Amino acid sequence: MKIDAFGAPLMVSWRFTRDCDLACLHCCMDCAPGARLPGELSAPECLRVAEQLACAEVPYVVFGGGEPAISPHFLEVAQFLGRAGVQIKLETNGQRLKPGLLERLARLPVRSIQVSLDGGDQDAYGRLRPAARLEAAVRACRAIREAGLPLEAAFAPTRFNIAQAEAVVGLALELGAFRFNTGRLMRLGRAARLWPALEPSDSEYADFLAMLDRKSAELAGRLELCYRPFSLREGVAQWLLQPPGTLLIQPDGKVRVSPVLPQECADLRRHTLAQAWDAYRGACRSPETLNALKAMMFEDMPVVV
Ligand code: SF4
Repeated sequence: MKIDAFGAPLMVSWRFTRDCDLACLHCCMDCAPGARLPGELSAPECLRVAEQLACAEVPYVVFGGGEPAISPHFLEVAQFLGRAGVQIKLETNGQRLKPGLLERLARLPVRSIQVSLDGGDQDAYGRLRPAARLEAAVRACRAIREAGLPLEAAFAPTRFNIAQAEAVVGLALELGAFRFNTGRLMRLGRAARLWPALEPSDSEYADFLAMLDRKSAELAGRLELCYRPFSLREGVAQWLLQPPGTLLIQPDGKVRVSPVLPQECADLRRHTLAQAWDAYRGACRSPETLNALKAMMFEDMPVVV
């Protein structure tokens, strides 16, 4: 495995909290207001993890959630990493970015801030994201660009909004995004439970893919459309060929082998980063992991919460 050549992760995906100011229908993490995971890492514990990431020279940390920006210690941890030279990405719904946050982030090596833009109008956006305002997300995108920060847009297709995908690509371009991230809806968390109401049809997906191929060629050099691997199955197939050099840290410090499996291979409260990295590489070879992932290639998609 390529990852054997590396003494530390090439990237860390840090699900910073399960708390969120929204409770979207398609959330693959079951996030909601007040839905912190029991035992989420405290500020000093997060800083201890960050210290190890910096010491190991992990080059890139992606903060996701939940909504990392509502965590009281997100900025402190991001600043610690950024000042140590670690590149940062923040994934946000953009509804309530605190005043001053972007200006502070702009002093750090931020690779990008990704805002979810899941609709071309408030009707579709608000159906997926009850109580959220598309105009707030758009305002956040503009503020990100005004702060001189690179912007990415994300789009999760459902039957409510898939017809608006092309309009959202246009919106992302107009807002100055350099990348548009999408792919098939993931049948995980709350999305799995609401699957019959959310899942687009095969023909809607076919039109969606054709649009992405067309826009990808048309916007080459202006907006990068990222949609491969397109499905969870394609992602699993790619993982089996070459496990990624990414360590996935949960809000409680546990380390998951893959976002689509419930298996945990380490706990950063009890293990050092080096031990967690070793455990991850071991888990990538374990029959338990390989069999669980291979089963996904042939069975209906699992429900992971
Ligand atoms: S999809 Fe994102 S914004 Fe919506 S509830 Fe989940 S984490 Fe929060």
